[in-house]
Amino acid sequence: MPKGKAYAVFSQLQAAYPDAHCALDHNTPFQLAAATILSAQCTDERVNQVTPALFAQYPTPETLAVAAQEDVEALIRPTGFFRNKAKNLVGMARTLVAHHDGQLPDRMDDLVKLPGVGRKTANVLLGNAFGKNEGVVVDTHVKRLSGRLGWSQQDTPERIERDLMALFPKELWTDLSHVLIFHGRQVCGARKPQCAVCPVAADCPSAKAA
Ligand code: SF4
Repeated sequence: MPKGKAYAVFSQLQAAYPDAHCALDHNTPFQLAAATILSAQCTDERVNQVTPALFAQYPTPETLAVAAQEDVEALIRPTGFFRNKAKNLVGMARTLVAHHDGQLPDRMDDLVKLPGVGRKTANVLLGNAFGKNEGVVVDTHVKRLSGRLGWSQQDTPERIERDLMALFPKELWTDLSHVLIFHGRQVCGARKPQCAVCPVAADCPSAKAA
C-alpha cells in the first residue's frame, strides 16, 4: 500500500479510536516497566488485576530490589510464567538501583539490558513513559492488522516493525500501536473480523476475503 493511502487509512482508524492508549495501569515509568514485563503471554486486564497489590507492596525500585522472590511470585501468579517474571521484576529493580539511581533509563540501549526487557518492551516504555517514538510495538494485533491492511507481508515482529517505520512518520509510531490494538480488539478480531462495521473496509485489501 502506498504511503499516502496507508496514512489516510490510519487517520480514519485514529478518528474511530480517539482515546486509544496504553491499557496497562501505571503511575510511574517504573510501574509501567513492571506491568509490561508481566504482560508477556498475558492479557492487560489480568495484569491490571494484580498490579495494585504489587505496587502497594513494592512502590519503588528500592523496595522491589530487596523483595523475596517467593513473595513477588505469590502476588503475580495469575499472570502466568510467574517464577520467571518474578525473577525479572526483582532483577530489573536491582539493576535500576545499582546502575540508574533507582530511575528507569530513557534510552533503548540501557532499557534492553534490564532483565525481562526486550526491544518490544523497550518500545512500550520509550513511547508511553517518555513520549519518545523510537520504534513500533508489534504485538499479535499489530502483526495481524499490518498483514490484513497490506502494510507488511513479513512474519516476524522485527521485520514488520521495519516496514511500519518506513511507512509512517516517526511521530505516529506510538499511536500506531495503540490504534491498531484497539481496532484489533474491537472490530478486526483474529477469528471473526467484523468487516461489515469496519470504518476502513473500503480501503482494506482483506475486507472481502476476511
Ligand atoms: S475490513 Fe475487515 S479485515 Fe480489513 S481491517 Fe476492517 S475488519 Fe479487518
